[in-house]
Amino acid sequence: MNVNSALRALREYLGQVEDLHAATSLLGWDQQTYMPPKGAEARGLQLATLSGLSHRIFTARKLGALLARLHDVREQLDPDDAKLIDETLYDYERAKRLPESFVKEFAEEQSKAFHAWIKARQQSDFGLFLPHLEKLVGLSRWRADLLGFEGLRYNALLEDYERGARAEDLRGVLATLAARQSEIVKCIAQTPVRADLGWLNQQWDEAAQWAVSIQILHDMGYDLEAGRQDRSAHPFTTSFHLNDVRITTRTHSDQLFSGLLSSLHEGGHALYEQGFLAKDARTTLAHGPSLGIHESQSRLWENIVGRSLPFWRHYLPLLRERFPGQLETVAAEEVYEAVNQVKPSLIRVEADECTYNLHVIIRFEIEVELLEGNLVAGDVPSVWNEKMKSYLGVDVPDDARGCLQDVHWSHGAFGYFPTYTLGNLYASQIFEAVLKDLPDLWQQVENGSFLPLRDWLREHVHRHGRRKTAADLVREISGTPPGAGPYLRYLEAKYSSLYGFPAPIKRKAPASPR
Ligand code: ZN
Repeated sequence: MNVNSALRALREYLGQVEDLHAATSLLGWDQQTYMPPKGAEARGLQLATLSGLSHRIFTARKLGALLARLHDVREQLDPDDAKLIDETLYDYERAKRLPESFVKEFAEEQSKAFHAWIKARQQSDFGLFLPHLEKLVGLSRWRADLLGFEGLRYNALLEDYERGARAEDLRGVLATLAARQSEIVKCIAQTPVRADLGWLNQQWDEAAQWAVSIQILHDMGYDLEAGRQDRSAHPFTTSFHLNDVRITTRTHSDQLFSGLLSSLHEGGHALYEQGFLAKDARTTLAHGPSLGIHESQSRLWENIVGRSLPFWRHYLPLLRERFPGQLETVAAEEVYEAVNQVKPSLIRVEADECTYNLHVIIRFEIEVELLEGNLVAGDVPSVWNEKMKSYLGVDVPDDARGCLQDVHWSHGAFGYFPTYTLGNLYASQIFEAVLKDLPDLWQQVENGSFLPLRDWLREHVHRHGRRKTAADLVREISGTPPGAGPYLRYLEAKYSSLYGFPAPIKRKAPASPR
Protein backbone atom coordinates (compact mmCIF):
# COMPACT_ATOMS: atom_id res chain seq x y z
CA MET A 1 0.00 0.00 0.00
CA ASN A 2 1.50 3.37 -0.94
CA VAL A 3 1.66 6.24 1.53
CA ASN A 4 -1.36 8.09 0.18
CA SER A 5 -3.64 5.10 0.25
CA ALA A 6 -2.41 4.23 3.74
CA LEU A 7 -3.27 7.76 4.86
CA ARG A 8 -6.70 7.51 3.24
CA ALA A 9 -7.30 4.16 4.91
CA LEU A 10 -6.23 5.61 8.27
CA ARG A 11 -8.61 8.57 7.98
CA GLU A 12 -11.47 6.28 7.01
CA TYR A 13 -10.74 4.00 9.96
CA LEU A 14 -10.48 6.87 12.44
CA GLY A 15 -13.72 8.28 11.04
CA GLN A 16 -15.49 5.09 12.07
CA VAL A 17 -13.99 5.19 15.55
CA GLU A 18 -15.03 8.84 15.94
CA ASP A 19 -18.54 7.98 14.72
CA LEU A 20 -18.82 5.33 17.42
CA HIS A 21 -17.64 7.82 20.03
CA ALA A 22 -20.19 10.31 18.75
CA ALA A 23 -22.97 7.70 19.04
CA THR A 24 -21.87 6.92 22.60
CA SER A 25 -21.88 10.63 23.43
CA LEU A 26 -25.32 11.05 21.91
CA LEU A 27 -26.66 8.26 24.15
CA GLY A 28 -24.96 9.97 27.08
CA TRP A 29 -26.47 13.34 26.17
CA ASP A 30 -29.91 11.78 25.92
CA GLN A 31 -29.42 10.00 29.25
CA GLN A 32 -28.98 13.35 30.97
CA THR A 33 -31.63 15.34 29.08
CA TYR A 34 -34.67 13.46 27.80
CA MET A 35 -34.42 9.76 28.72
CA PRO A 36 -37.32 8.59 30.92
CA PRO A 37 -36.15 7.29 34.33
CA LYS A 38 -36.99 3.66 33.58
CA GLY A 39 -34.60 3.69 30.61
CA ALA A 40 -31.57 3.90 32.90
CA GLU A 41 -30.75 0.22 33.21
CA ALA A 42 -30.96 -0.55 29.50
CA ARG A 43 -29.00 2.61 28.73
CA GLY A 44 -26.19 1.46 31.01
CA LEU A 45 -25.92 -1.78 28.99
CA GLN A 46 -26.05 0.09 25.68
CA LEU A 47 -23.25 2.39 26.78
CA ALA A 48 -21.11 -0.51 28.02
CA THR A 49 -21.62 -2.40 24.73
CA LEU A 50 -20.67 0.63 22.65
CA SER A 51 -17.63 1.38 24.84
CA GLY A 52 -16.42 -2.20 24.47
CA LEU A 53 -17.03 -2.13 20.73
CA SER A 54 -15.17 1.11 20.08
CA HIS A 55 -12.32 -0.09 22.26
CA ARG A 56 -12.14 -3.32 20.23
CA ILE A 57 -12.13 -1.47 16.92
CA PHE A 58 -9.63 1.11 18.08
CA THR A 59 -7.17 -1.47 19.40
CA ALA A 60 -7.45 -3.81 16.38
CA ARG A 61 -4.22 -5.07 14.81
CA LYS A 62 -5.30 -3.58 11.49
CA LEU A 63 -5.03 -0.06 12.90
CA GLY A 64 -1.72 -0.88 14.58
CA ALA A 65 -0.29 -2.09 11.27
CA LEU A 66 -1.47 1.04 9.43
CA LEU A 67 0.03 3.30 12.08
CA ALA A 68 3.33 1.40 12.08
CA ARG A 69 3.51 1.60 8.28
CA LEU A 70 2.91 5.37 8.35
CA HIS A 71 5.19 5.96 11.30
CA ASP A 72 8.04 4.45 9.28
CA VAL A 73 7.64 7.14 6.61
CA ARG A 74 6.79 9.91 9.08
CA GLU A 75 9.60 12.16 7.76
CA GLN A 76 8.02 12.28 4.28
CA LEU A 77 4.59 13.29 5.54
CA ASP A 78 3.34 16.86 5.74
CA PRO A 79 3.36 18.19 9.33
CA ASP A 80 -0.42 17.78 9.84
CA ASP A 81 -0.36 14.15 8.77
CA ALA A 82 2.73 13.47 10.88
CA LYS A 83 0.95 14.99 13.88
CA LEU A 84 -2.11 12.86 13.18
CA ILE A 85 0.08 9.73 13.23
CA ASP A 86 1.85 10.77 16.47
CA GLU A 87 -1.34 11.57 18.34
CA THR A 88 -3.20 8.48 17.17
CA LEU A 89 -0.24 6.26 17.96
CA TYR A 90 -0.12 7.71 21.46
CA ASP A 91 -3.83 6.90 22.00
CA TYR A 92 -3.48 3.49 20.39
CA GLU A 93 -0.57 2.39 22.54
CA ARG A 94 -2.31 3.59 25.66
CA ALA A 95 -5.59 1.86 24.79
CA LYS A 96 -3.76 -1.39 23.98
CA ARG A 97 -2.64 -1.64 27.59
CA LEU A 98 -6.26 -2.13 28.73
CA PRO A 99 -7.90 -5.48 27.89
CA GLU A 100 -11.43 -5.25 26.49
CA SER A 101 -12.76 -7.26 29.44
CA PHE A 102 -11.36 -4.60 31.78
CA VAL A 103 -12.93 -1.76 29.77
CA LYS A 104 -16.35 -3.45 29.91
CA GLU A 105 -16.07 -4.24 33.61
CA PHE A 106 -15.14 -0.64 34.32
CA ALA A 107 -18.05 0.72 32.23
CA GLU A 108 -20.56 -1.60 33.93
CA GLU A 109 -19.32 -0.60 37.37
CA GLN A 110 -19.56 3.06 36.37
CA SER A 111 -23.26 2.70 35.56
CA LYS A 112 -23.97 0.87 38.83
CA ALA A 113 -21.94 3.34 40.87
CA PHE A 114 -23.62 6.31 39.20
CA HIS A 115 -27.10 5.11 40.15
CA ALA A 116 -25.97 4.23 43.68
CA TRP A 117 -24.41 7.68 44.02
CA ILE A 118 -27.66 9.41 42.98
CA LYS A 119 -29.53 7.55 45.73
CA ALA A 120 -26.77 8.01 48.28
CA ARG A 121 -26.69 11.74 47.63
CA GLN A 122 -30.49 12.07 47.76
CA GLN A 123 -30.58 10.29 51.13
CA SER A 124 -27.21 11.66 52.26
CA ASP A 125 -26.18 8.10 53.05
CA PHE A 126 -22.52 7.47 52.22
CA GLY A 127 -22.93 3.78 53.09
CA LEU A 128 -25.00 3.25 49.92
CA PHE A 129 -22.13 4.51 47.78
CA LEU A 130 -19.23 3.04 49.78
CA PRO A 131 -19.08 -0.47 48.19
CA HIS A 132 -19.06 1.13 44.72
CA LEU A 133 -16.40 3.64 45.66
CA GLU A 134 -14.27 0.80 47.02
CA LYS A 135 -14.75 -1.14 43.78
CA LEU A 136 -13.91 1.88 41.60
CA VAL A 137 -10.83 2.77 43.63
CA GLY A 138 -9.68 -0.84 43.25
CA LEU A 139 -10.36 -0.82 39.51
CA SER A 140 -8.62 2.53 39.14
CA ARG A 141 -5.52 1.30 40.96
CA TRP A 142 -5.52 -1.69 38.64
CA ARG A 143 -6.04 0.58 35.66
CA ALA A 144 -3.07 2.71 36.70
CA ASP A 145 -0.92 -0.40 36.98
CA LEU A 146 -2.01 -1.57 33.52
CA LEU A 147 -1.26 1.85 32.02
CA GLY A 148 2.07 2.25 33.81
CA PHE A 149 3.40 5.34 35.57
CA GLU A 150 6.44 7.03 37.08
CA GLY A 151 6.34 8.46 40.59
CA LEU A 152 2.88 8.46 42.10
CA ARG A 153 0.26 6.00 40.83
CA TYR A 154 -2.06 9.00 40.40
CA ASN A 155 0.05 10.14 37.45
CA ALA A 156 -1.27 7.29 35.30
CA LEU A 157 -4.83 8.60 35.68
CA LEU A 158 -3.93 12.28 35.49
CA GLU A 159 -2.43 11.51 32.09
CA ASP A 160 -5.95 10.75 30.75
CA TYR A 161 -7.07 14.30 31.41
CA GLU A 162 -3.92 16.41 31.50
CA ARG A 163 -1.24 14.71 29.47
CA GLY A 164 2.27 15.30 30.79
CA ALA A 165 1.13 16.70 34.15
CA ARG A 166 2.55 15.17 37.33
CA ALA A 167 0.99 15.08 40.77
CA GLU A 168 4.36 15.91 42.32
CA ASP A 169 4.43 19.26 40.43
CA LEU A 170 0.76 19.96 41.00
CA ARG A 171 1.29 19.69 44.75
CA GLY A 172 3.63 22.67 44.65
CA VAL A 173 1.31 24.77 42.46
CA LEU A 174 -1.71 23.95 44.61
CA ALA A 175 0.19 24.79 47.80
CA THR A 176 1.08 28.23 46.39
CA LEU A 177 -2.53 28.83 45.40
CA ALA A 178 -3.81 27.67 48.79
CA ALA A 179 -1.51 30.04 50.65
CA ARG A 180 -2.15 33.10 48.45
CA GLN A 181 -5.86 32.55 48.01
CA SER A 182 -6.51 32.12 51.71
CA GLU A 183 -4.75 35.47 52.25
CA ILE A 184 -7.13 37.07 49.75
CA VAL A 185 -10.14 35.46 51.44
CA LYS A 186 -8.88 36.68 54.81
CA CYS A 187 -8.51 40.26 53.51
CA ILE A 188 -12.05 40.12 52.13
CA ALA A 189 -13.47 38.79 55.41
CA GLN A 190 -11.92 41.79 57.19
CA THR A 191 -13.51 44.42 54.92
CA PRO A 192 -16.69 46.08 56.13
CA VAL A 193 -20.08 44.72 55.06
CA ARG A 194 -20.81 45.39 51.40
CA ALA A 195 -23.72 47.14 49.75
CA ASP A 196 -27.18 45.69 50.26
CA LEU A 197 -27.77 42.90 47.75
CA GLY A 198 -31.29 42.25 48.99
CA TRP A 199 -32.62 42.86 45.46
CA LEU A 200 -31.27 39.44 44.53
CA ASN A 201 -33.96 37.83 46.68
CA GLN A 202 -36.75 37.92 44.12
CA GLN A 203 -38.39 35.37 41.83
CA TRP A 204 -36.85 35.42 38.33
CA ASP A 205 -38.99 34.13 35.50
CA GLU A 206 -37.22 31.06 34.11
CA ALA A 207 -38.40 31.54 30.52
CA ALA A 208 -36.89 35.04 30.63
CA GLN A 209 -33.62 33.62 32.02
CA TRP A 210 -33.61 31.16 29.14
CA ALA A 211 -34.15 33.89 26.55
CA VAL A 212 -31.30 36.00 27.98
CA SER A 213 -28.95 33.00 27.94
CA ILE A 214 -29.74 32.30 24.29
CA GLN A 215 -29.09 35.95 23.43
CA ILE A 216 -25.72 35.86 25.21
CA LEU A 217 -24.74 32.60 23.49
CA HIS A 218 -25.65 34.09 20.15
CA ASP A 219 -23.67 37.27 20.87
CA MET A 220 -20.53 35.40 21.88
CA GLY A 221 -20.57 33.66 18.50
CA TYR A 222 -21.92 30.20 19.37
CA ASP A 223 -23.44 28.89 16.16
CA LEU A 224 -26.95 27.78 17.10
CA GLU A 225 -27.36 26.16 13.69
CA ALA A 226 -24.54 23.84 14.73
CA GLY A 227 -25.58 23.47 18.35
CA ARG A 228 -28.41 23.78 20.83
CA GLN A 229 -29.07 24.35 24.51
CA ASP A 230 -31.18 21.99 26.65
CA ARG A 231 -31.79 21.52 30.35
CA SER A 232 -30.04 19.00 32.60
CA ALA A 233 -29.39 18.59 36.32
CA HIS A 234 -25.65 19.10 35.78
CA PRO A 235 -24.68 21.45 32.95
CA PHE A 236 -22.30 20.00 30.37
CA THR A 237 -21.10 20.32 26.78
CA THR A 238 -20.94 17.43 24.34
CA SER A 239 -19.87 17.27 20.74
CA PHE A 240 -20.70 14.77 18.00
CA HIS A 241 -18.97 16.77 15.28
CA LEU A 242 -17.91 20.39 14.96
CA ASN A 243 -21.28 21.00 13.32
CA ASP A 244 -23.22 19.50 16.22
CA VAL A 245 -21.96 20.77 19.56
CA ARG A 246 -24.56 20.83 22.32
CA ILE A 247 -24.70 22.42 25.72
CA THR A 248 -27.03 22.14 28.70
CA THR A 249 -27.82 24.47 31.56
CA ARG A 250 -30.18 24.69 34.51
CA THR A 251 -32.24 27.58 35.80
CA HIS A 252 -33.61 28.28 39.28
CA SER A 253 -36.46 30.72 39.87
CA ASP A 254 -34.75 32.10 42.98
CA GLN A 255 -31.37 32.67 41.28
CA LEU A 256 -30.84 35.15 38.48
CA PHE A 257 -27.19 34.53 37.61
CA SER A 258 -26.47 30.86 38.22
CA GLY A 259 -28.06 29.65 34.98
CA LEU A 260 -26.75 32.54 32.88
CA LEU A 261 -23.17 32.05 34.03
CA SER A 262 -23.44 28.34 33.50
CA SER A 263 -24.59 28.96 29.91
CA LEU A 264 -21.56 31.20 29.42
CA HIS A 265 -19.29 28.51 30.84
CA GLU A 266 -20.64 25.79 28.57
CA GLY A 267 -20.72 28.28 25.70
CA GLY A 268 -16.96 28.71 26.13
CA HIS A 269 -16.49 24.94 25.85
CA ALA A 270 -18.80 24.85 22.83
CA LEU A 271 -16.96 27.63 20.97
CA TYR A 272 -13.80 25.58 21.33
CA GLU A 273 -15.45 22.47 19.85
CA GLN A 274 -16.98 24.49 17.02
CA GLY A 275 -13.61 26.11 16.35
CA PHE A 276 -11.67 23.03 15.25
CA LEU A 277 -10.65 22.95 11.60
CA ALA A 278 -13.18 21.32 9.26
CA LYS A 279 -10.38 19.25 7.71
CA ASP A 280 -9.69 17.71 11.15
CA ALA A 281 -13.30 16.55 11.65
CA ARG A 282 -13.64 12.83 12.45
CA THR A 283 -9.93 12.55 13.30
CA THR A 284 -7.80 12.51 16.44
CA LEU A 285 -6.79 16.15 15.88
CA ALA A 286 -10.31 17.59 16.37
CA HIS A 287 -10.00 17.55 20.18
CA GLY A 288 -8.34 19.74 22.78
CA PRO A 289 -4.88 18.67 23.99
CA SER A 290 -6.08 18.47 27.60
CA LEU A 291 -9.10 19.10 29.80
CA GLY A 292 -7.23 21.97 31.43
CA ILE A 293 -7.07 23.78 28.09
CA HIS A 294 -10.74 23.01 27.47
CA GLU A 295 -11.59 24.38 30.87
CA SER A 296 -9.53 27.51 30.22
CA GLN A 297 -11.96 28.34 27.42
CA SER A 298 -15.07 27.96 29.58
CA ARG A 299 -13.59 29.84 32.52
CA LEU A 300 -12.30 32.66 30.38
CA TRP A 301 -15.85 33.34 29.19
CA GLU A 302 -17.62 32.63 32.46
CA ASN A 303 -15.29 34.32 34.94
CA ILE A 304 -13.04 36.79 33.19
CA VAL A 305 -15.65 38.07 30.71
CA GLY A 306 -18.96 37.09 32.34
CA ARG A 307 -18.07 38.35 35.81
CA SER A 308 -16.70 41.69 34.57
CA LEU A 309 -18.22 45.14 34.94
CA PRO A 310 -18.24 45.96 31.18
CA PHE A 311 -20.18 42.75 30.50
CA TRP A 312 -22.98 43.73 32.87
CA ARG A 313 -22.94 47.33 31.69
CA HIS A 314 -23.90 45.86 28.34
CA TYR A 315 -26.45 43.30 29.52
CA LEU A 316 -28.20 45.19 32.33
CA PRO A 317 -30.60 46.93 29.89
CA LEU A 318 -31.56 43.53 28.45
CA LEU A 319 -32.14 42.17 31.96
CA ARG A 320 -34.34 45.19 32.78
CA GLU A 321 -36.37 44.55 29.65
CA ARG A 322 -36.77 40.82 30.37
CA PHE A 323 -37.55 41.26 34.09
CA PRO A 324 -39.76 44.36 34.01
CA GLY A 325 -39.88 46.35 37.25
CA GLN A 326 -37.38 44.11 39.05
CA LEU A 327 -34.07 45.86 38.34
CA GLU A 328 -35.01 49.51 37.81
CA THR A 329 -32.96 50.80 40.75
CA VAL A 330 -30.07 48.38 40.41
CA ALA A 331 -26.81 49.70 38.89
CA ALA A 332 -24.33 47.69 36.79
CA GLU A 333 -21.79 48.07 39.62
CA GLU A 334 -24.20 46.26 41.95
CA VAL A 335 -24.66 43.43 39.47
CA TYR A 336 -20.87 43.22 39.21
CA GLU A 337 -20.68 42.95 42.98
CA ALA A 338 -23.48 40.38 43.08
CA VAL A 339 -21.75 38.01 40.64
CA ASN A 340 -18.45 38.29 42.51
CA GLN A 341 -19.46 37.70 46.12
CA VAL A 342 -16.77 35.85 48.03
CA LYS A 343 -17.80 33.52 50.78
CA PRO A 344 -16.32 30.17 51.81
CA SER A 345 -19.04 27.61 51.18
CA LEU A 346 -19.73 23.89 51.00
CA ILE A 347 -20.36 23.31 47.31
CA ARG A 348 -17.59 23.43 44.69
CA VAL A 349 -19.73 24.27 41.68
CA GLU A 350 -21.21 27.26 43.48
CA ALA A 351 -17.87 28.46 44.84
CA ASP A 352 -16.56 31.92 43.97
CA GLU A 353 -13.25 32.46 42.17
CA CYS A 354 -11.30 33.12 45.39
CA THR A 355 -12.25 29.88 47.12
CA TYR A 356 -12.77 27.57 44.13
CA ASN A 357 -9.27 26.12 43.98
CA LEU A 358 -9.40 25.27 47.69
CA HIS A 359 -12.22 22.84 46.89
CA VAL A 360 -10.05 21.25 44.21
CA ILE A 361 -7.08 20.86 46.55
CA ILE A 362 -9.19 18.85 49.02
CA ARG A 363 -10.27 16.42 46.30
CA PHE A 364 -6.77 16.13 44.87
CA GLU A 365 -5.25 15.28 48.25
CA ILE A 366 -7.90 12.65 48.96
CA GLU A 367 -7.58 11.06 45.52
CA VAL A 368 -3.80 10.78 45.71
CA GLU A 369 -4.02 9.03 49.09
CA LEU A 370 -6.78 6.68 47.87
CA LEU A 371 -4.75 5.70 44.83
CA GLU A 372 -1.56 5.26 46.83
CA GLY A 373 -3.45 3.03 49.26
CA ASN A 374 -2.82 5.33 52.24
CA LEU A 375 -6.51 6.04 52.72
CA VAL A 376 -9.44 3.59 52.64
CA ALA A 377 -12.70 4.61 50.98
CA GLY A 378 -14.61 4.27 54.27
CA ASP A 379 -12.56 7.09 55.81
CA VAL A 380 -13.31 9.57 53.01
CA PRO A 381 -16.18 11.38 54.81
CA SER A 382 -14.20 12.12 57.97
CA VAL A 383 -11.08 13.20 56.05
CA TRP A 384 -13.22 15.35 53.77
CA ASN A 385 -14.85 17.11 56.71
CA GLU A 386 -11.51 17.78 58.41
CA LYS A 387 -10.06 19.27 55.26
CA MET A 388 -13.12 21.47 54.65
CA LYS A 389 -12.64 22.86 58.12
CA SER A 390 -8.93 23.48 57.74
CA TYR A 391 -8.95 24.92 54.17
CA LEU A 392 -12.29 26.72 54.12
CA GLY A 393 -13.24 26.99 57.77
CA VAL A 394 -16.69 25.50 57.18
CA ASP A 395 -18.46 22.68 59.00
CA VAL A 396 -19.97 20.01 56.76
CA PRO A 397 -23.50 19.25 57.98
CA ASP A 398 -24.02 16.03 55.98
CA ASP A 399 -22.34 13.93 53.28
CA ALA A 400 -24.74 15.11 50.56
CA ARG A 401 -23.18 18.55 50.92
CA GLY A 402 -19.81 16.95 51.65
CA CYS A 403 -18.01 14.11 49.92
CA LEU A 404 -21.09 12.98 47.96
CA GLN A 405 -21.61 16.29 46.12
CA ASP A 406 -19.63 15.59 42.92
CA VAL A 407 -20.46 13.06 40.23
CA HIS A 408 -16.80 12.37 39.28
CA TRP A 409 -15.99 9.53 41.67
CA SER A 410 -19.12 7.67 40.62
CA HIS A 411 -17.64 7.68 37.11
CA GLY A 412 -14.31 6.46 38.47
CA ALA A 413 -12.85 9.73 37.17
CA PHE A 414 -9.87 10.09 39.51
CA GLY A 415 -7.37 12.68 38.33
CA TYR A 416 -9.99 14.96 36.80
CA PHE A 417 -10.38 17.70 39.43
CA PRO A 418 -6.96 19.36 39.01
CA THR A 419 -7.91 20.23 35.42
CA TYR A 420 -10.40 22.77 36.78
CA THR A 421 -7.61 24.60 38.58
CA LEU A 422 -5.30 24.33 35.59
CA GLY A 423 -8.14 25.78 33.50
CA ASN A 424 -8.24 28.81 35.80
CA LEU A 425 -4.48 29.27 35.51
CA TYR A 426 -4.34 28.82 31.74
CA ALA A 427 -7.31 31.16 31.24
CA SER A 428 -5.59 34.06 33.00
CA GLN A 429 -2.31 33.45 31.25
CA ILE A 430 -4.02 33.32 27.84
CA PHE A 431 -6.10 36.38 28.66
CA GLU A 432 -3.03 38.51 29.40
CA ALA A 433 -1.98 37.78 25.80
CA VAL A 434 -5.48 38.61 24.52
CA LEU A 435 -5.28 42.06 26.12
CA LYS A 436 -1.91 42.76 24.49
CA ASP A 437 -3.38 42.01 21.06
CA LEU A 438 -6.80 43.57 21.70
CA PRO A 439 -6.12 46.61 23.92
CA ASP A 440 -9.68 47.94 23.55
CA LEU A 441 -11.27 44.57 24.41
CA TRP A 442 -13.13 45.86 27.46
CA GLN A 443 -14.69 48.64 25.40
CA GLN A 444 -15.79 46.00 22.88
CA VAL A 445 -17.29 43.90 25.67
CA GLU A 446 -19.19 46.92 26.94
CA ASN A 447 -20.51 47.44 23.41
CA GLY A 448 -21.60 43.79 23.24
CA SER A 449 -19.06 43.01 20.56
CA PHE A 450 -17.58 39.60 21.39
CA LEU A 451 -16.56 38.34 17.98
CA PRO A 452 -13.04 39.85 18.05
CA LEU A 453 -12.38 37.83 21.23
CA ARG A 454 -13.91 34.67 19.78
CA ASP A 455 -11.86 35.06 16.61
CA TRP A 456 -8.66 35.65 18.59
CA LEU A 457 -9.30 32.41 20.51
CA ARG A 458 -10.08 30.60 17.24
CA GLU A 459 -6.80 31.72 15.76
CA HIS A 460 -4.55 31.13 18.79
CA VAL A 461 -6.25 28.22 20.58
CA HIS A 462 -9.17 26.47 18.88
CA ARG A 463 -7.90 25.72 15.40
CA HIS A 464 -4.79 23.92 16.68
CA GLY A 465 -6.82 21.05 18.14
CA ARG A 466 -4.34 18.46 19.36
CA ARG A 467 -1.43 19.72 17.27
CA LYS A 468 0.19 21.33 20.32
CA THR A 469 0.44 20.10 23.90
CA ALA A 470 -1.21 22.19 26.63
CA ALA A 471 2.16 23.45 27.90
CA ASP A 472 3.41 24.35 24.40
CA LEU A 473 0.18 26.12 23.52
CA VAL A 474 0.27 28.27 26.66
CA ARG A 475 4.00 28.95 26.28
CA GLU A 476 3.64 30.01 22.65
CA ILE A 477 0.69 32.27 23.41
CA SER A 478 2.11 33.93 26.51
CA GLY A 479 5.87 33.63 26.05
CA THR A 480 6.30 31.88 29.41
CA PRO A 481 5.66 28.34 30.69
CA PRO A 482 2.30 27.73 32.41
CA GLY A 483 2.29 28.99 35.99
CA ALA A 484 0.20 30.47 38.78
CA GLY A 485 1.45 34.07 38.43
CA PRO A 486 -1.12 35.50 35.97
CA TYR A 487 -4.04 33.96 37.85
CA LEU A 488 -2.93 35.33 41.21
CA ARG A 489 -2.32 38.76 39.62
CA TYR A 490 -5.82 38.65 38.17
CA LEU A 491 -7.43 37.66 41.48
CA GLU A 492 -5.57 40.24 43.54
CA ALA A 493 -6.23 43.08 41.11
CA LYS A 494 -9.93 42.29 40.74
CA TYR A 495 -10.83 41.56 44.36
CA SER A 496 -8.64 44.24 45.96
CA SER A 497 -10.47 46.88 43.95
CA LEU A 498 -13.88 45.25 44.48
CA TYR A 499 -13.45 44.89 48.22
CA GLY A 500 -11.13 47.83 48.80
CA PHE A 501 -7.97 46.33 50.24
CA PRO A 502 -4.46 47.14 49.02
CA ALA A 503 -2.83 45.00 46.31
CA PRO A 504 -0.38 43.44 46.13
CA ILE A 505 -0.99 41.86 49.50
CA LYS A 506 2.10 42.16 51.71
CA ARG A 507 3.54 38.73 52.29
CA LYS A 508 5.93 37.47 54.92
CA ALA A 509 9.13 35.99 53.54
CA PRO A 510 9.14 32.18 53.71
CA ALA A 511 10.55 31.03 57.04
CA SER A 512 12.91 28.46 55.60
CA PRO A 513 14.58 28.16 52.20
CA ARG A 514 12.64 26.00 49.71
ZN1 ZN B 1 -16.20 23.17 32.29
